[in-house]
Amino acid sequence: MMNTIVPDHPLIAHKLTVLRDHMTQPANFRSIVSELMTLLAYEATRAVPTQSVTVATPIAPYTGRKLASPVPIVVPILRAGLGMLDGMMALLPTAEVGFLGMERNDETLAITTYANRLPDDCGGRSCFILDPMVATGSTIIEAIKLLSARGARDLVCVSILAAQAGIDALEEWTAQAGVDFTMVTAAIDAQLNDHNYIVPGLGDAGDRMFGTIG
Ligand code: URA
Repeated sequence: MMNTIVPDHPLIAHKLTVLRDHMTQPANFRSIVSELMTLLAYEATRAVPTQSVTVATPIAPYTGRKLASPVPIVVPILRAGLGMLDGMMALLPTAEVGFLGMERNDETLAITTYANRLPDDCGGRSCFILDPMVATGSTIIEAIKLLSARGARDLVCVSILAAQAGIDALEEWTAQAGVDFTMVTAAIDAQLNDHNYIVPGLGDAGDRMFGTIG
């Protein structure tokens, strides 16, 4: 079952428009991604597990809620997901961070995992996957498979932009696989071009953040 959340907020719309503008240079692009991430993280963490905790105020005992243990895992997908990490960690400073390096072969469209630094045991942990551009959805499907195989639950992907085709593919796959999954994105664009770039999109997110490395 998949739940798709596109938060309707003027600051999110403003920051996304700045990111789409081809005139926005990498230094500014990175800081706007960070700001946007903090707004998206607020929505993405709405269902993060909490537990009852009693503290002493200066006046009296108080029973409230704090993040449950074990703490959530945040998993940026290299390379562009790295640019989303500090904005996410600003809201979840006690989370642990795992890394996945994934790339798609442009001809076969197959996904290769070239780096996998996840905690061995993700059992019962809630997990936030960071990937700015969800084009076909296949990278996220691979990430969900890897994390589910280690026992992660409450899987949430935070992205800046998704294509409708990617959302459709994720919906179909999660329904077939019986995986509960939440997708949070600042916007859904209607199209993909022949190279699987999102249209109108914002270009190659890694290049926009870090400069082109070819
Ligand atoms: N990855 C990107 O960086 N941009 C797209 O438009 C699609 C995938």
